[in-house]
Amino acid sequence: MSRSAVFLDRDGTLLEEAGYLDRLDRLVFFPYSVDAVRLLNRANFAVVVVTNQAGIARGIFKESFVAEAHQHITARLSAGGARVDGFYYCPHHPEAVIEQYRKSCDCRKPEPGLLRQAAADLDLAFDRSFVIGDRWHDLEAGHRVGARGVLVRTGYGTTEERAPRDRVRPAAIVDNLMEAVSWILRAS
Ligand SMILES: [Mg+2]
Ligand SMILES: [Zn+2]
Repeated sequence: MSRSAVFLDRDGTLLEEAGYLDRLDRLVFFPYSVDAVRLLNRANFAVVVVTNQAGIARGIFKESFVAEAHQHITARLSAGGARVDGFYYCPHHPEAVIEQYRKSCDCRKPEPGLLRQAAADLDLAFDRSFVIGDRWHDLEAGHRVGARGVLVRTGYGTTEERAPRDRVRPAAIVDNLMEAVSWILRAS
């Protein structure tokens, strides 16, 4: 049977929002991040990180840095007995300075391309899955494939909460990733 998944935004949700995260020393976990991921692992959710990384398109950092950052995240989680089942990122931007990344793609959130790719790779069931993010575009990507969304108030979340979107109804708005995971474990 297809697995249920939790699609996690990276910056502002799993990690502190750092603007363009372009150095490992700016990669900061919230104190509860590892525990939150481990709880999802134990509940048998696939945990998938889905992140827009337009800093690649803008020439601020390279794809190799994103890979390095994700290895770093994997190691930190592993040390705490937690794991991510897949990392998916969009390197594109319509106004990219680097031509190979300049396009209107189907993977930059709110487009759901990365979620679809993960679902195909990992055999995931959207109707039993959730998105956790600090931006409406995170939740909209989930909404477009039928996954429920939880907005967190970390990162840009409090700003987003003040500007609701008609077409994206959150299933819940909570303070942070740990509260979002608690909510999902109760709701599922
Ligand atoms: Mg974010
Ligand atoms: Zn893309």
